[in-house]
Amino acid sequence: MIHPQLETLTFIQEAEQDIARLRREIEALPKRLAELERKLAAEKLALEQAEKAIKEEETKRRRLESDIKDQQQKILKFREQTSSVKTNEQYAALQHEIGFAEAEIRRIEDRELESMERSEHLEAQRAKAKQELADQTRVVELEKEAARATSTEQQAKLASLIDERTRLRANVDEDLLARYDRIAAARGTGVARVQGQRCLGCQMALRPQVWNQVRMGEILPCESCARLLYYDPELEPAVEVPAAKAKRKKADTGGDEED
Ligand SMILES: [Zn+2]
Repeated sequence: MIHPQLETLTFIQEAEQDIARLRREIEALPKRLAELERKLAAEKLALEQAEKAIKEEETKRRRLESDIKDQQQKILKFREQTSSVKTNEQYAALQHEIGFAEAEIRRIEDRELESMERSEHLEAQRAKAKQELADQTRVVELEKEAARATSTEQQAKLASLIDERTRLRANVDEDLLARYDRIAAARGTGVARVQGQRCLGCQMALRPQVWNQVRMGEILPCESCARLLYYDPELEPAVEVPAAKAKRKKADTGGDEED
């Protein structure tokens, strides 16, 4: 049998464990949401960076285009000058300048091409970032909705568990409750079930005397962990029944010869 006060303590302990679990879940929720928001912010940043880099490449190319125009102007000017040169040296010098400007244009065009390749790559990045941001935004919205619903439910459950604990505590003697609270504060749990002559709180074996007294419903602490021990016959595995059957079977077979 279970001492009724001890049984109440087991209910209190159950409620307290549920309260602790719920509180952990409630606390984890804002952290989970904050983590999602951080991911969202990172994706927004990736998109912004891709957009910024694309703009930079465009600016770079406009500058390169204007550099090409400058070189073309130079070539035009040199060509005009060739029509009025007086010496071969002057002509050769102008041809050299033209060749130099043309080489410069090719060099700038190569850079332009490289920039366009980078832009292409960046545009793919931007498209990917945009898609990921849209997906993640939707996920965060859904998670937030679910979190709000869960949170309301959990808060209500927590309040009812706290009420239940208060109600249960009113039914336990003050001294016993104080003992329970002390052990629970130190060990995490204040009561422990015994089974097979063991304390299930610390797994240590009980002395036969203690085991018998606890089974009779006495309130005793575990000699190893100090938790208050209780015995619940309904939870004791039915080892005695198959053992008895086995014995009877043996007796039956043995009995044939005797009969
Ligand atoms: Zn113990």
